[in-house]
Amino acid sequence: MQKLRAVTLVIASLFICISSQVHAAGKIEVDIYKGEVATVNSYIFSNGESLIVMDVQRATSEAKKLAEVIRAKNLPLEYILISHGHPDHYIGMNWLMKEFPDAKIVVASEDIKKDIIGFSTYMESINWLDAEPTLKPKSKKNPNGFDYVANINVLDDNTLELKGGGSLKIETTYAPAESDHPTTVYVEEINGLFTSDFGYNKVHLWMGAGVTDAHIANWRKALVDLQIKYANLSPTVYPGHGEPNNVDVGLFATMVKYIDNFNRVIANADSKEEAMLKMEKLYPDYAEADFLLKNSVDFHFDKTN
Ligand SMILES: [Zn+2]
Repeated sequence: MQKLRAVTLVIASLFICISSQVHAAGKIEVDIYKGEVATVNSYIFSNGESLIVMDVQRATSEAKKLAEVIRAKNLPLEYILISHGHPDHYIGMNWLMKEFPDAKIVVASEDIKKDIIGFSTYMESINWLDAEPTLKPKSKKNPNGFDYVANINVLDDNTLELKGGGSLKIETTYAPAESDHPTTVYVEEINGLFTSDFGYNKVHLWMGAGVTDAHIANWRKALVDLQIKYANLSPTVYPGHGEPNNVDVGLFATMVKYIDNFNRVIANADSKEEAMLKMEKLYPDYAEADFLLKNSVDFHFDKTN
């Protein structure tokens, strides 16, 4: 019996050894936090030694829940990567910064940093940030506000290394689409493509104010290009909005079709109500008709009529 126990112990320690070696070799895992407020997904990358989180939710109340998921992993958070300058992806950053003071907030380009500052300045001008006072920009009038300039770091490389092994390949060479300066991330170790807001799964696409016809055309083209670029690799696709599980490159064709349907419905509808009804009939199980679809229809119908 004693001997058996010793053998078991040896086998068990062998397993522990193997698993820690796998981590050291840079085995990346991803945890998904599905936001409720705006169907935004946050992705937590881990290699068993350190963490990176991509996108941090639209409300501090949700960032608090996200922070708990990160904390439960019991590993140091190194980076908070914000994919683009829309508030549904960055409002949570102040909370995360306070919870994880050693983590660095990073964006892939100077343009994205400018977009974030621009959006928050706009939100402050219409009192939108009264609901999120910790995100009010630092200024002479508000010296204790959030210091966007100092707190947001611009990456000087298109690779973000996880401490302990593994990396995120960052791509920013896209024309303005759903946002002015989108980022995608590819993680070779798990063959995962994190599309940020190029990808909406079973959620109406945001084509409201700012997403012009030219931007929609760019978005459509980017989806076709991604389809071609990743055809052979056939990665798991992790969308910025909507159901994040079991998605593949087929999402891109579905979205191209959605864009074509939207353009056709807008061009042919006699009223916004008719356009809404037609889109809802085509996509009965898509979320956020009241907000995303409504704003998209309002913006594009007014422009064409
Ligand atoms: Zn978004």
